[in-house]
Amino acid sequence: MSRLYYSRKRVMVTGGAGFLGSHLIDRLLAEGHDVLCVDNLFTGSRDNLVEAAKNPNFEFMRHDVTWPLYVEVDEIWNLACPASPIHYQHDPVQTTKTSVHGAINMLGLAKRLGARIFQASTSEVYGDPHVHPQPEGYWGNVNPIGPRSCYDEGKRCAETLFFDYHRQHGLDIKVARIFNTYGPRMHPADGRVVSNFVMQALKGEPITIYGDGSQTRSFCFVDDLIEGFLRFMKAPAEVTGPMNLGNPSEFTILELAEMAIRLTGSGSTIVRQPLPADDPKQRQPDIALARKALGWQPTVPLEQGLERTIAYFKQFT
Ligand code: NAD
Ligand code: UDP
Ligand code: UDP
Repeated sequence: MSRLYYSRKRVMVTGGAGFLGSHLIDRLLAEGHDVLCVDNLFTGSRDNLVEAAKNPNFEFMRHDVTWPLYVEVDEIWNLACPASPIHYQHDPVQTTKTSVHGAINMLGLAKRLGARIFQASTSEVYGDPHVHPQPEGYWGNVNPIGPRSCYDEGKRCAETLFFDYHRQHGLDIKVARIFNTYGPRMHPADGRVVSNFVMQALKGEPITIYGDGSQTRSFCFVDDLIEGFLRFMKAPAEVTGPMNLGNPSEFTILELAEMAIRLTGSGSTIVRQPLPADDPKQRQPDIALARKALGWQPTVPLEQGLERTIAYFKQFT
């Protein structure tokens, strides 16, 4: 029998109809696994799964992870959660429930099955950081009661649950702290900075910079991130994370706006809008751990990744 037969797994991806989840599913299917996508389609879309749906090893289940789920799988990837500020602030109570109840249900499932489980955590656990760049040992600076707290504290509590299930029940966990990631299949209207700037530039509309544009982010192209995910999930059990995954090349938001204008050849102007509450002033991953434990680092420079993202967004203009 082929090697593939033995290495083939039944893999579940929650949030699989979203931006990152759908790219992950494409890679898992290409590796020959059976993939079950579990998603309530709150921010995700079946459009992201058009290619996956052609594969007989793919199955879609509409389900909300805040409710228990009884299925039989070998491996779980928990990505379900709205990720853009306008989406996660739309129904903040549901956002916390998704992170916390969702984590409890998926951990309960993993416990019953003895399955390895991956958690899509976030650089938001560092809040508005006082340590720069951010290593995993930094505990963060998070407002517990602000408009971003439903997301930040939900994800922090999910990390707590993952590590308590690991210590208390011996669960095999992988916790990734994902930094700003962009690329094709981002929702064109999700309000995140890359989708906003590219769509505005393509339409010749003003580019909306919140605040003075001196705040920084470090942008990772989606293909690089998914490669990091796969290496992490295949790493030995003692490599639990939390592990930063992101691109350490840091840019100001003004630099990003100028790049979006230049690469689209747009005549857009720049307008200033008020800075949202608790907007982190700086963010850059320290990826020393991922380099050492996974031999991983991003390879796609921002300009190249933006070209590919612009090509994708052209269909929406
Ligand atoms: P996304 O909004 O495109 O995808 C999230 C998916 O989860 C969607 O398909 C949505 O319908 C689904 N979902 C939401 N609530 C659900 C629920 N209660 N039950 C079932 N499905 C639900 O966002 P994304 O960028 O693909 O993010 C995926 C994960 O990665 C999220 O957990 C997010 O917090 C995390 N993350 C992403 C980034 C980034 O830059 N993209 C950064 C840090 C962390
Ligand atoms: N759970 C689930 N699927 C399973 C097993 C458990 O959804 O296959 C959920 C169930 O709702 C449970 C939660 O996971 O409440 C936590 O499970 P655990 O076994 O840790 O705790 P308990 O069942 O004792 O509450
Ligand atoms: N931002 C901006 N204009 C926009 C959208 C976002 O200036 O149209 C800024 C936002 O204030 C933040 C940064 O870009 O400082 C990244 O925002 P995003 O919502 O993409 O992600 P996050 O703040 O969660 O990192």
